[in-house]
Order: sequence, then C-alpha cells, then structure tokens
Amino acid sequence: MGELNGKVALVAGGGSGIGRAVVERLVAGGATVVFCGNVADQVRATETEVRASATDSSDSGRGAGGGGAGAGGGKPAVTGVVADVTSSADVGRFVDDAANTHGGIDILVNSAGIQRYGTVEETSEELWDEVLAVNLKAMYLTARFAVPHLRARGGGSIVNVSSVQAFVAQDRVAAYAASKAGIVGLTTAMAIDHAKDKIRVNTVCPGSVDTPMLRWAADLYRGERSVDELVEEWGRSHPLGRVARPAEVAELVAFLASDRASFITGASHRVDGGLLSGVPVVLPQG
Ligand code: NAD
Repeated sequence: MGELNGKVALVAGGGSGIGRAVVERLVAGGATVVFCGNVADQVRATETEVRASATDSSDSGRGAGGGGAGAGGGKPAVTGVVADVTSSADVGRFVDDAANTHGGIDILVNSAGIQRYGTVEETSEELWDEVLAVNLKAMYLTARFAVPHLRARGGGSIVNVSSVQAFVAQDRVAAYAASKAGIVGLTTAMAIDHAKDKIRVNTVCPGSVDTPMLRWAADLYRGERSVDELVEEWGRSHPLGRVARPAEVAELVAFLASDRASFITGASHRVDGGLLSGVPVVLPQG
C-alpha cells in the first residue's frame, strides 16, 4: 500500500456499491479522497464508516511497521459531500472545494449511476433524460470542472464506470445501454484531447456486481424467487460462476488511477468474470 500517497482523488457516487468500494480502496492506498452522493444519510454513514475502518487499519498497520491510510501519514483522509451529479452548480462546488481544500486533484472516478428498464416505446422522455443525465452528462460535468485541476498538477487519471451493457444488451435497457455506450465514446474522445495534458482516461465495464443497484433489479424481476436466489442465478451466467464483489471492481479502478497504469489510456477494461468471452452456442456432446 501507499502507492497513492500524496494523491487527491474525487469519487462521484461514492456513497454505496462500487463507488464506496473505490473510496475504501483509494484511502487504503494512501490517497486523500473526497466523494459525493445525492443521498445525505448514505454519504454521512459512508464517511463515518470508512474513516473508522481506515483508522483501525492505520493503527494496526503502524504497529506492524506499515504505511497506513491517508495522505497525511496515517491519518484517514476521506470527506463525503452531498451533491447531485446532474447539477452543474453542485458538481462545481464538489470539485472546486476539494481542489481548494487539498491543493489540487490527481484522480477522478465517476461511479454514480442509475438503472431503469424499458424499451424505447416504454421509456418516457423524462426517464430517458434522467438516465442520460445521471449516467452520462454527469461524467461530462465532473470532467469539465476537474480537468483544469488535473492539468495544473501536470496530469492525472480519470476512470469512468460503464458496463458490459455498453457492448451487449439485455431486454428493456434502451436508455441504460445508450448511456453506457456513450461513456465509452466520451472516454475515448477525452483520452485523445487530454493526452497532451498527461491526463489518462479509461473506462471499466463490470458484469454483474453485488451492490444495492443489482439487488434492486433482482427484487424487480425475482418473481417467486428470493433476491439471493436470483443474484446467484445471474452469477451462474458468468463463466466464473458468480457475480463480482464491489472490491473486485475497485481493484481495477485503483490500478488505472495509479501511476502503475502510466501507459494506459482511452481503453475499456472488462471486469466481468468472463461474461463477454463466451457465446451461448454449445457444441453437442460426444
Ligand atoms: P449503487 O446504486 O450502489 O451506486 C450508485 C451510486 O450513485 C449511489 O450511491 C447513488 O446515491 C449515486 N447516485 C445516483 N444518482 C446520483 C445523482 N444524481 N447524484 C449523485 N449521486 C448519485 O450501484 P452500483 O452498482 O455501485 O453502481 C455504480 C456504477 O456501476 C453505476 O454507474 C452502474 O451503472 C455501474 N454498474 C453496476 C453494475 C452492477 O451489477 N452493480 C454492473 C455494471 C455497471
């Protein structure tokens, strides 16, 4: 650990699920982290819990001669901010306050997102606008405010959380799939535009991950089954036989955010347990 010592990281959508796991992983790596979410209670709870567990591991790490969490040398450095990522004013405050407080920004991770179901016929214009605003426009907004700060530091890393549904679709995910494919296009364009600023921009594309969003979707579709049973069933459709833990996605995000990924930009990285590697055509036995 300690590879992110001295780095200041922003995580949009850090209050739960993958974003929260990213906050925990970046703090464990030594970064100072400021995250945002739109649910105040969740933001406060995550801030308190991450601080507490970072302090615990920092204390035990120090006892064993380890580095500990937080850029302040063993002091956990995580702050939660209530902000709506679709609001330019909220995003500006989130980004600029963090930069002013901590002297700059090195890393931006975009993990805020919502899942909504519907064919184009079933998707109202309001729903379409909501999904595209949270899942795609927000990434443009955070980047628009953060890029000048990253450039001022001489470079940095942006990681956008997309989905395997940027490339393949389930039934009734018209707006969601469009937003996730849009993230891939935005990431590619930003990687080209900001390579000269030494800002790397990458996308991670998870398969199914055990988060509140996945469990909300499972509850919607479970029928007579329990949520656990449907999550396990979805897991069996991944070659590795299970859904991911949020920390497994966070590991890839932390790598891409770090200087270890110094020659990686403009790319989409699947973290999907092999989901997109298979075709559903099985050879006859014997
Ligand atoms: P989650 O619901 O736990 O996390 C999403 C977070 O975004 C929440 O904390 C929520 O408060 C925040 N958010 C939503 N709207 C917001 C807004 N307007 N302003 C600020 N914050 C807002 O779900 P998750 O599964 O961790 O999702 C994280 C990302 O991963 C999403 O972009 C999602 O599409 C993507 N993803 C998830 C899966 C999966 O199986 N869970 C798979 C592929 C991609």
